[in-house]
This record gives sequence, structure tokens and C-alpha cells, in this order.
Amino acid sequence: MSDRFEHERGLVWFRTDLRVHDNTALHRAVQACHSIAGVYIACPETWQSHDEGDNLVAFRLACLRELQESLGERNIPLYFLELKRFDQVPEAMAQIARKLEVSAVFANAEYPVNERQRDEAVRQALKQVDIPIEYSTDRTLVPPGAIKTNSGDAYKVFTPFKRAFIDQCGGGDFSPLPAPRKREPADWPSWLQVKAEENLRQTIPATVAGYDAVAQKDGKLLGWEPGEKAGLRRLREFEENIDAYEDERDYPAIDGTSKLSPYLNAGALSVRQCVHMALECNRGRWKGGSEGIDCWLSELIWREFYTHLIVAYPRLCKHKPFKPETEGVPWSGDELAFRRWCKGKTGVPIVDAAMLQLEKTGWMHNRLRMVVASFLTKNLLIDWRWGERYFMNQLIDGDFASNNGGWQWAASTGTDAAPYFRVFNPYSQSEKFDRHGEFIRHFLPQLKKLSDKEVHCPPPTEGYPPPICDVKETRKKAIEAFADLKG
Ligand code: FAD
Repeated sequence: MSDRFEHERGLVWFRTDLRVHDNTALHRAVQACHSIAGVYIACPETWQSHDEGDNLVAFRLACLRELQESLGERNIPLYFLELKRFDQVPEAMAQIARKLEVSAVFANAEYPVNERQRDEAVRQALKQVDIPIEYSTDRTLVPPGAIKTNSGDAYKVFTPFKRAFIDQCGGGDFSPLPAPRKREPADWPSWLQVKAEENLRQTIPATVAGYDAVAQKDGKLLGWEPGEKAGLRRLREFEENIDAYEDERDYPAIDGTSKLSPYLNAGALSVRQCVHMALECNRGRWKGGSEGIDCWLSELIWREFYTHLIVAYPRLCKHKPFKPETEGVPWSGDELAFRRWCKGKTGVPIVDAAMLQLEKTGWMHNRLRMVVASFLTKNLLIDWRWGERYFMNQLIDGDFASNNGGWQWAASTGTDAAPYFRVFNPYSQSEKFDRHGEFIRHFLPQLKKLSDKEVHCPPPTEGYPPPICDVKETRKKAIEAFADLKG
């Protein structure tokens, strides 16, 4: 071993960071170790710890396949370990580390409370065998907890958080880290040698825990192309259009947003790569540059905010409302209405078209996420947690922190500064953001023939249900329910 390295052999534990470029843990291992291998651990709870559904799991698995190839090209083996239970991870990590004879482990930090507890348990288990683990900041731009109010508390409201973030961290270096260069082949054991004891494989099995969606769909998932290469390509394509972001981002019929969320959440792309691109185009400015770029950077700070929030308020990870008094909202419990909402059969076209977009593509436009969430929690007065769970189960870009934050924002149980009587009117949202009904007609062809005016609130139409509720009346009732709570 050359003196240049601290360790002869190191192990990188990949989780939601499935890429070779700008991967902090991988980069740290490359700097510190003469020879490195990667490991990915799957167990039903890894895939489904937050109600993740098949779309997200299949996307992640496809990213993992590409990662294995990219690492292989660099002579870095990736081991794949299947476990039955989440609580077996610490012991298994200690065993793998010993079996592979590594003297250090590297991983990028994850922030939901169960993941943090698991990571601490892994640290302890590795300590027992004298192997240190280093967790790096990678999923966020700065470590959660780094941005504090003058009195040392976490920010509870987005706008002051954003201001403080730009003041304190905006001048930081967000240059992406390079991918590792091809290394000399090293004598890592082949999977056959270790399989018997640990079910540790060096190739990802075609079917993991019953998920064979990737193979079936020829690598394309609901029209999404998974993997780091596709994520980087999408980032470059979006760069061409970033200046128009502010003007176009609210119109679901226009492809005006980046659609990078699935890549960011699988870690096939890093938030630093996004910020770096945007700052390069904005002459290094977070604000005061192109309106489109300023606005897009602001959205990335929303993502940062929600992730910092779940660390500052771990109760959010237990699906508790941010505002405790809203635990008393008399949610309706109407399962039939909920099913109609899930299936896009509420009789309110913009809501139904949005829910069908989710079902058919695994993704929903941000404006519509707000509209359908407001409709479910205010007009149908259904518990936001039902919607949160359904979204997580369907979304290809499901992210616990952003999803929880978005739902609580819409339900007025969260950190939002706006008062609880903000209830979106789905018809006016539809008229404003899908004026000619292009989006509605795409997902609800039975409304194709209606005029631009009628398509938002159709007369009795064959093949389309009447509205599930009167939005004005239900709005009033929701406001009363929240007002009682305050009183
Ligand atoms: P762009 O508009 O191009 O934004 C770029 C990136 O910024 C996004 O990829 C995302 O990482 C981040 N971002 C943008 N808006 C937000 C936001 N409001 N909150 C947090 N981050 C944001 N986003 C998820 O990534 N996963 C979720 O599970 C999720 N659930 C949501 C649920 C509800 C009820 C709501 C209202 C929003 C939710 N969002 C979620 C936020 C937002 O809708 C998506 O990030 C966005 O639509 C993704 O599309 P895009 O990549 O084209 O975004």
C-alpha cells in the first residue's frame, strides 16, 4: 500500500446515493483507501420503510444496476446483500466489513428518524469490530441543523430559512466532486466465496423481493428512464429551458419543470450538481439574476428546508402534525370518497386528471399536488396522512421529507405561514392554470368534446361522474372545523 492512503481496503455503503459522480462518501473512500468495494443492503423495510411503492422501488433498482456497471468499469465491485429485517442491518454490516477485511466504511447520511437510528446502531456494531464508519453530508447542501435562528432554534417558516440559508451558506463551494478513475483490479472475493454465509452477491438478482418491474418494462418505467446517465442528460436538457422556469412552471400542460425529482430522490443525481448548474448559469448568484433560475434555486431550498425540518422535529417522521392542535381536526374517515379521489373519479376534472397523471406516470405536477391535496384535506376533510401514504405508494419521486412537508402545508397542519382558511378552489385553479383544458383532455378523453369553458366544470357527461361535493359548502365546513380548533 502506498503511504498516500490511510487504509488498505475500504467499503462504501450505498443507500439513496446511487451514482458515481459527485458522491461524497465514494469520493472520501477514494481519497482514503488503496482499494474499495461497495455494498448495497436490501430488505423489505429498506424498500418500503415509508410506504414506498413498486414504481419507486423499480426505479431505484434500475439505478442500482447502472451503478453496478459504472463501478465495475472502474474495477470497484458492488456487493448486494438481502436481509429479512431492518434490525439485522447493524450486525450484517459488521460481518460484511470483517469478511471483506476492510478497515473503514463510508456512507452518506440519511435523515428520517428510523434511518438515523439504524445508522447509529451500525456505528456501534462496527465499533465492536474496531472499524470506523464515516457519514458524510451529501443529500442536502449543508448539514441539517447548520442553519439556526439568532436564538439557536431551527427555522419553522420557509422564507426566513431561505434568507438565512443564502446569507450563511450561499457563498459556499458547491462544485461537484469527480467520479473515481479506473483503479487497478484488486483481489476482492467473488460472491461465490461469501454467499453461503451471508447471501452476499456480486450481481444484483433479476428479481429482488418480487420486484421484476424493471426487467418487464425493458428498463423504462412509466416513460421514465432510470439511472445516473439519464439524470445527467435531463439536467443538461433542463439547463436549456431554465430561464423560462418561472413563467412556465405552474402550467401542467407545459413541460416547464425539470422533472429531476426521481433522480434526486434515488440519488442518481445530487442536489449539488443541480445547484452548480444553476449558479453557473446565474453568474454565481442565488437571487437577483435570471428570474427563472432564482425561482428554481428557491425550489431546491424548499427541498433543503423540509429535510432540515424532519431532523429538527423528529415527530414529523412519526406522522405527527407540525401544529399539535390540528390533531383534533374531525377528519371524516369516508373511505369511499377517498377511493374515488385515488382513482380520479371525484367528478372535478382537474383533480381527476391529476390523479390519473399520478397513476399513469408515477409523477404529478407540483401545482396539481397542491390542488389535489387541498381538495382531499379541505373539501373532503380526509386526514392528510391518507393522502401522504397514497402518494408515497404511487410516486416514482417519493421522498419522505418533501412529501410530508407538502401534505402538511396543504392541510394547514404544517409549517406554512398562511392561515388555515387558505383553501384552493379547484375550478378557478383549473381555469387559471389549464385554461384551454389541454391537460384535462389528455387524461380524461371523455371530456374532449366539451368547450374550453365547460371542461373545467362539465355538465352531465356520459362516462364522467357528477362532482363528489359542492366545493363552496365544503370549504366553509372545513374552515369552521379549523376555527373550532383554534377556539
Ligand atoms: P422542479 O419544479 O423542477 O423543482 C426542482 C427540484 O426542487 C425538485 O425536483 C425537488 O427536488 C425540489 N422541489 C421543488 N418543489 C419542491 C417543494 N415544494 N418541496 C420540496 N422540494 C421541492 N417532492 C418530492 O421530491 N417528493 C415527494 O414525495 C413530494 N411530495 C409532494 C407532495 C405534495 C402534497 C406537494 C404539494 C409537493 C410534493 N413534492 C414532492 C414537491 C414537488 O411537488 C416536487 O418536488 C416537484 O413537483 C418535482 O418536479 P420537478 O423535479 O419537475 O420539480
